[in-house]
Amino acid sequence: MSVAALFESERHAMIERQLRRRGIHDEGVLRAMFEVPRHEFVPADQREAAYDDRPIVIGDEQTISQPYIVAAMTEAARIEPGDKVLEIGTGSGYQAAVLAHLGAQVISLERNPWLAATARERLARLGYAGIQVVTYDGSGGYPSVAPYAAILVTAAAPKVPQMLLDQLADGGRLVIPVGTLQQQTLELILKDGDRLTVHDLDPCQFVPLIGEQGWPERSR
Ligand code: SAM
Repeated sequence: MSVAALFESERHAMIERQLRRRGIHDEGVLRAMFEVPRHEFVPADQREAAYDDRPIVIGDEQTISQPYIVAAMTEAARIEPGDKVLEIGTGSGYQAAVLAHLGAQVISLERNPWLAATARERLARLGYAGIQVVTYDGSGGYPSVAPYAAILVTAAAPKVPQMLLDQLADGGRLVIPVGTLQQQTLELILKDGDRLTVHDLDPCQFVPLIGEQGWPERSR
């Protein structure tokens, strides 16, 4: 079996065993996660583990999230083609690529300049020309091009930053892990006019959102 065929069969197993079996049913999300070559988003010496059921360290104490968490966040965000979507925490660029496969116009913020540059180069090489990676403390969002149909925060926040709610369009969705440094709950917040509805999704463990609206730098 060629290496490409091997990765494809691992992707297929990931979809069936880790995602569909755990309740991810959105066919668009499942297709996007089948199409994005996750092994291209991990360090070279971790490629064999790319489709394992866990997060993987990508450098500077940061991680690419577990496949199930990426799927759960993407499904919760109910992405429609053409949606302007803000991701906070580019990391490897994997979540941004999944969003782009669903037709989103993706702006992704990363505070770590090395990770931002690496993700930018990787996404360009893989043909994701439309994803805009910005080196920026995104804990308060990115107001200059708001509002967003969806905001996904892929790092753990101590509370929901009001600034992110302000940058959601009417009908917008915010998906964010909220809690302590050790343990969080993945929350989905729906904005309908002046009304906000909060849904608790899954327990989760993310690296901290560092910055003005997140945790202080020393908490790492
Ligand atoms: N979504 C990523 C992926 O698909 O690989 C995984 C994100 S990783 C779990 C969390 C990322 O959030 C790290 O790369 C970290 O540097 C970044 N981060 C933490 N605080 C941030 C902030 N205030 N603004 C932007 N990025 C931040």
